[in-house]
Amino acid sequence: MTKQKLDDHRMTLLRGLPKIDEVMLSLEKKGAFARTPKYIVKSICRSVVEELRQEILNKQMDAKGMRLPTAGEVVDKVMRIINGLHQYRLRKVVNATGVILHTNLGRAPLCADALQRLMEIAGGYSNLEYDLVKGERGLRYDHVQKILCELSGAEDALVVNNNAAAVLLALNTLAEGKQVIVSRGELVEIGGEFRIPEVMEKSGACLYEVGTTNRTRLKDYEKAIGPETALILKVHTSNFRIIGFTEDTDLASLVALGKNYGIPVMYDLGSGCFAELDRYGLEREPTVRDVLATGVGVVTFSGDKLLGGPQAGVILGQKDILQKIKKNPLNRALRIDKLTLAALEATLMQYLQPEMAVTRLRVLMALTEKLADVTKRAKKLLSMLRKEHFEGLAISVTKGFSMSGGGSLPAQEIPTMLLSIVSTHMSPSSLEERLRRLDVPIIARIAEDEVLFDMRTIEEGEFPYIRDGLKKITSS
Ligand SMILES: *Cc1c(COP(=O)(O)O)cnc(C)c1O
Repeated sequence: MTKQKLDDHRMTLLRGLPKIDEVMLSLEKKGAFARTPKYIVKSICRSVVEELRQEILNKQMDAKGMRLPTAGEVVDKVMRIINGLHQYRLRKVVNATGVILHTNLGRAPLCADALQRLMEIAGGYSNLEYDLVKGERGLRYDHVQKILCELSGAEDALVVNNNAAAVLLALNTLAEGKQVIVSRGELVEIGGEFRIPEVMEKSGACLYEVGTTNRTRLKDYEKAIGPETALILKVHTSNFRIIGFTEDTDLASLVALGKNYGIPVMYDLGSGCFAELDRYGLEREPTVRDVLATGVGVVTFSGDKLLGGPQAGVILGQKDILQKIKKNPLNRALRIDKLTLAALEATLMQYLQPEMAVTRLRVLMALTEKLADVTKRAKKLLSMLRKEHFEGLAISVTKGFSMSGGGSLPAQEIPTMLLSIVSTHMSPSSLEERLRRLDVPIIARIAEDEVLFDMRTIEEGEFPYIRDGLKKITSS
């Protein structure tokens, strides 16, 4: 169809497209095949040339103004793509956003012990599923079962890939083909993909909504109970709060109601916390232990939120319920990997010494660190940066607020110190973009005409990245 309309110039351009074989020959001379298999180089050549062909064909007007790249330019482009393949895409970044549990930036950083355990366990063989006492097959999640039960007071424990998997698995085990009662105020979406009604549907359970968005009473739950009811589900509303004329039914009342009718209660806690954060001036978040003390049947939460460990889904609760969940064939599909398990076990051990946990786990450290210490760090960075001469940058320190993030403590404003950077020749968004494109990217936030680095989420060990990054930006 396009063919008929092709003008002469277009035809000339198409004929002039570099030949794959010629480009390949030049690439071979440049040593491209030494680093990358020939079949990959060839497929990149093809797609680069194909892209040019499409460009010529799709030009809306006539292609008169168009010039073909030289063979040399095509070779360079292919080389750039090949070089890109050799660069890690998953990279370390400096989190200067002040969001402590930033889902897009990998949530919780691991503690030193967890990292060491990763090296030890992942680099060789382990007793992952081997019972060293009996000399026979063991269960992978048994390694953390005991410590989880001791820390939380739960009868039994299971860990899976993440909390979404934990919720799916528990719902599927306990309520497939049956009804689950949930308050309309708790039908939440957490992040883009996790929505309670959708997870419920995938689990095969039927959602039975009760109450209203802002008020759900015990009576609403009770009225909904019928022969099809398999479970009462409570969901932590995580990343939002409904304020004003509200009423929700507390977990203990739901547990009592469930007991009356012989129906188990499940709580999707979201961000399971083992530390008593109110001791550090933060709002009170019930600990996992507090939650289990209500007698709730089963609780699920993430390993990489307030717990401060690797991505994982922790399921705690009563033995009979946990036994059923463990036998669900879905468990095999959602199972936890050995790297995660090694890091999770080391993370949990930190809580055996709670005062140490808040200094060793970076999430807890960032949440509880005194403003005075954050300020000290801010001034240290400021004086380090003032020793350099960054052309056109005005750097100062100012007060602000950090956020917990990751759906935890949504209403908590945590006072912090910010490094403010104003450029005389770059707009804040252009500076923010350049920071993002550094070899070690610095993810910052913008407020009007400033770029802000929140010192609460920046460690002293990361200062050189900031100094070198700013140097690079201002000297190019
Ligand atoms: C974060 C969260 C989830 C999802 O947990 P992942 O670990 O991201 O799978 C589910 N429910 C609640 C209430 C949450 O806060």
